[in-house]
Amino acid sequence: MNAIVRTGGCQCGGIRFRLEGEPLDSSICHCRMCQKAFGAYYAPLVAVGEANLAWTRGALKYFQSSNHVRRGFCPDCGTPMTYEADDGIAISAGSFDDPASLPPVIQFGVEGKLPFVDRLHTLPQRHTMDDIDSAPFLSDIVSYQHPDHDTETWPPEDWQPMDWQKEKRQ
Ligand SMILES: [Zn+2]
Ligand SMILES: [Zn+2]
Repeated sequence: MNAIVRTGGCQCGGIRFRLEGEPLDSSICHCRMCQKAFGAYYAPLVAVGEANLAWTRGALKYFQSSNHVRRGFCPDCGTPMTYEADDGIAISAGSFDDPASLPPVIQFGVEGKLPFVDRLHTLPQRHTMDDIDSAPFLSDIVSYQHPDHDTETWPPEDWQPMDWQKEKRQ
């Protein structure tokens, strides 16, 4: 039987990875360090465990967030990519091409949980296009985000990024 293969990468596509086999688990971490590192209320992370992880494009940059942990991110677009500790590596769950395939099964660092997090599902809900009148630019928006699958080359030939992005990528 062939092992299941998952792929993923950062928002700009400069970093891509391939994970072969079942990861250890999928979790969210509420600790204050993860909140900062992800700029978010909590961090969704997939622990690699015994699965085979390969970086297939680009090279991460790292911030050593403690004496035992470093965190990898894309140097071009800033997407948080890894949490790396003495006991293994975890990958940001949202960077997988199919994050729905790895639902979280446990919450860590709950002492840091923000008080409103357990009520998020009760908030009013809007579809992006429901607000088209207040954000008319949405009608002709062009995404420069890497697609949710591996690509031969990136960026594509006809890609027209803004000048500051061009500079970055050369
Ligand atoms: Zn990137
Ligand atoms: Zn954490």
